[in-house]
Amino acid sequence: MKYKFCPLCGRELVMRNSWDEGEVPYCPVDDKMYFDLPKPCVVVAVVRDSQILLMKQSYIFKDSKVLVSGYVTTGEDVESTVIREVKEETGITVDNLKYLGSDVVLGTELLMLTFMADYVEGEITKSDEVEWVDWSNIEDALCQMQEDHVGKKVVKKVLKEINYTGKKAYMCDIDDLK
Ligand SMILES: [Zn+2]
Repeated sequence: MKYKFCPLCGRELVMRNSWDEGEVPYCPVDDKMYFDLPKPCVVVAVVRDSQILLMKQSYIFKDSKVLVSGYVTTGEDVESTVIREVKEETGITVDNLKYLGSDVVLGTELLMLTFMADYVEGEITKSDEVEWVDWSNIEDALCQMQEDHVGKKVVKKVLKEINYTGKKAYMCDIDDLK
């Protein structure tokens, strides 16, 4: 987020040179620089045998299922975010987290840290912010996640991690045909 006004005192910010970052918005009253920082969030593929936990949140993607995701809060380590978001949104407890790399979507401030995690226990009890959540066969996941490009990349990494050797899981993988 690019700041124009100081969030502390409301004053219009001035540009000030910061050695490495170039011109940065600055409040001379509070002596504070407001860097354009990315917003870290997690994207999690929860795996249970040959199944994966998918959700529907049509405010994100209208006709597409998605992986569990959520923002990292201040003071929280990223691993705790993964465990908390899965629990809050689906009621499921996960463990054995594996980091699968980061991703960005141009034009957004999101820095997406992607993970896979193993199901430990719990029945699905969705939160109010989730329209639908359930286990899907991992072979059907890519077909059901048409609009979620980052999520599909994560699923493909998961298929490699679980040593999937079949072809069925990739039948809707149009990204590979480009
Ligand atoms: Zn200020």
